[in-house]
Amino acid sequence: MIRDGFEPNKMYPVIYDLPSPVRHINKKKVIIIIAILIILLIMYFIFKKPTVFINGEKVEKVSYKTEFVDKGITAIYHFKNITNEVIVTNNVNTNNLGEYEIVYKIPYWFGTYTYKRQVKVIDDISPEIQLQGDTEYKVSYKKEYQEPGYAAIDNYDGDITEKVEVNTKDISPSEKEYYYSVSDSNGNKQQVKRKVIFIDDIPPKVEINGEGTIFLNVGDTYEEQGATAIDEKDGELTEKLEITSNVDTNQVGTYVVRYSVPDNSGNIGIADREIVVGGPGRACMKIGTPKTIYLTFDDGPSAHLTPAILDILRENNIKATFFILDYGANTEPLVKQIVEEGHSIGIHSASHDYKVAYANPEAYLSGIDYMKEKIKSSTGVETNLIRFPGGSSNTISRKYCPGVMTALVNETVNRGYRYFDWNVMSGDSGDTQTAEEVYNNVTNGLRDTISNVILMHDFNGNNKTLEALPSIIKYALDNGYTFEKITNKTPMVTQNVQN
Ligand code: ZN
Repeated sequence: MIRDGFEPNKMYPVIYDLPSPVRHINKKKVIIIIAILIILLIMYFIFKKPTVFINGEKVEKVSYKTEFVDKGITAIYHFKNITNEVIVTNNVNTNNLGEYEIVYKIPYWFGTYTYKRQVKVIDDISPEIQLQGDTEYKVSYKKEYQEPGYAAIDNYDGDITEKVEVNTKDISPSEKEYYYSVSDSNGNKQQVKRKVIFIDDIPPKVEINGEGTIFLNVGDTYEEQGATAIDEKDGELTEKLEITSNVDTNQVGTYVVRYSVPDNSGNIGIADREIVVGGPGRACMKIGTPKTIYLTFDDGPSAHLTPAILDILRENNIKATFFILDYGANTEPLVKQIVEEGHSIGIHSASHDYKVAYANPEAYLSGIDYMKEKIKSSTGVETNLIRFPGGSSNTISRKYCPGVMTALVNETVNRGYRYFDWNVMSGDSGDTQTAEEVYNNVTNGLRDTISNVILMHDFNGNNKTLEALPSIIKYALDNGYTFEKITNKTPMVTQNVQN
């Protein structure tokens, strides 16, 4: 149909009217797609495996023979933590090196999900080196260094001490380092170090000039003779020597003079000299000059014997010592003669009666003071030499005054006297009856190494001593002895006080 006014060649707009069935088909498609998606989603939920979070490493390493603690896993299923439901199979044995697996079985709706973790038991522990002794060792530079010992223990190999290598390195002339190295069978290494320091621990050698022990009498002067010091490393050190001394020659006692010097390493060399200041109660038997004889005659002067003794002494050009008792005008010339002929004179006692002499200390002391004055007026000699009746070791005085000898040995010395006992007995005032016995007693008693103080007696009738004297002198001279008289300088020869 051609409508009114339609012109065939004219362009007219076309109006479409879409058919309704097409719109219907499109709606269906959407529904299908949505349905598929829902199905997929449902299937995803059905078939989805649990999610596993690994604690720690996927491959764990654990040291040999150490405790292995599985860090485990965390399992999540459908937003829910199901770690508690995980079944773990763990056969890791750290006592054996090797590779192990830990199996985690995780049950879920559709079945069981299995997860595995690898565990390697390895030896990654280094051996231990134990040093015996210190890690810093000090040893004398003069001594050879002795390895104090070491041991190497490995957690896997056990004792590998034999594999230890020791190397040294010189740090300085006095320092050396020792390196102890070892490697176990799995290649784990260990090294420890010891330092050895070579020290100078040898003190300087100090040598005393003169005698190591010097015997002096109270009032003598001690003369320092010094010492020398040499150190092996530092050489001559004599000039650095320090001398300390507590010597008091006014007091009886044993003193020490110390010579000391340090070397450059602080080692102190020491030498001591002993100074024995003789006095009461001391058995100074080693005193004096070797092969010296002091002839001493007690109890004189005697009218008949003293002149005869003086004759023999004069003939042999020998000086002796006379410890005399109180004397009268008749024997006073003999006292003078003793002094004039060059002999020593000393005091024995004012009285030889023990009961009188040792009644108390003052009795004896006043007696010797009296004798001292008397001898001085007779001869001009002021003697301070005494000999106690019976000697300082006598015990008979106990009967009259206990302790009197102890008091006397001290007080006489305090007053400036010097008392002399003896160390060779002739026995001529006792049991000895013949000149031969006197001779034998004396010659058998002589000692080469000391001063011999021979006790003899000068009383009338003592002819055995007079007879023995020339042969005693001959024996002594033939055997190289020298005769001396006792003077203020003679070291005191004393016995041990017993009362
Ligand atoms: Zn006597």
